[in-house]
Amino acid sequence: MVKKMPPLVPAHDTIVDLLVIGSGTGMSAALAAHELGLSVVIAEKTAYVGGSTARSGGAFWIPGSSILPEPHEPGVAEAATYLGAVVGDSAPAERGTAFLDHGADTVAMLQRTTPMRFFWAEGYSDYHPEKPGGRAAGRTC
Ligand SMILES: Cc1cc2nc3c(=O)[nH]c(=O)nc-3n(C[C@H](O)[C@H](O)[C@H](O)COP(=O)(O)OP(=O)(O)OC[C@H]3O[C@@H](n4cnc5c(N)ncnc54)[C@H](O)[C@@H]3O)c2cc1C
Repeated sequence: MVKKMPPLVPAHDTIVDLLVIGSGTGMSAALAAHELGLSVVIAEKTAYVGGSTARSGGAFWIPGSSILPEPHEPGVAEAATYLGAVVGDSAPAERGTAFLDHGADTVAMLQRTTPMRFFWAEGYSDYHPEKPGGRAAGRTC
């Protein structure tokens, strides 16, 4: 749901630990920073909160999280195989590694810092279940 912003807040001459440009997925970074005690400002250019993220299906594919019915380690290793098969050399390997290394912690952070509750969309297949590491039962939440 797209929410209209409250009246604009001027932020002239403000010093913060983290400035997030745009109120989409960057809000997760803002939440994590706020939880760590950092001061944060989210600067949004429109009168609405959420960007494409607010209009999305809200589904996330984050292997290794506690939402999925599997132990963390083998789940992440299998997902790494799948990412390798699907993404290949089309993106820097470090991004995939960071995604796999920190995904579960990110989901746990969202559970701690928001009222959101998640569930496994069992049967919502991975887009390429035929690839190595792919799953017909899916890993989407
Ligand atoms: C209909 C639809 C359904 C989708 N469903 C899914 C799904 O289920 N699962 C999934 O993983 N992905 C889904 N996606 C894709 C996903 O929504 C996007 O990839 C994701 O939301 C992009 O996040 P973002 O933070 O990069 O951008 P956004 O969420 O668009 O956030 C960017 C924000 O930055 C603001 N902004 C831009 N420039 C500036 C500036 N100069 N100064 C200040 N603010 C600025 C914008 O106004 C916007 O609010 C879907 C996409 C669509 C369109």
